Amino acid sequence: MVLIVKCPGCGKNQKTNPRITRPSDLTKKTKRCVYCGRSFKIHSNNNSRIVGSAKK
Ligand SMILES: [Zn+2]
Repeated sequence: MVLIVKCPGCGKNQKTNPRITRPSDLTKKTKRCVYCGRSFKIHSNNNSRIVGSAKK
């Protein structure tokens, strides 16, 4: 499942492909921004950064 997430640092959208087995694992995953290098959580309960999902 490819997700599109928005970096909280630079605000750019990018794709990520978290390899998770359960949807709840998504809250533990972090992503490093390919543009500014900032690491951020892909998903938190308070503020979802997932913009959308891209299917093959
Ligand atoms: Zn960024």
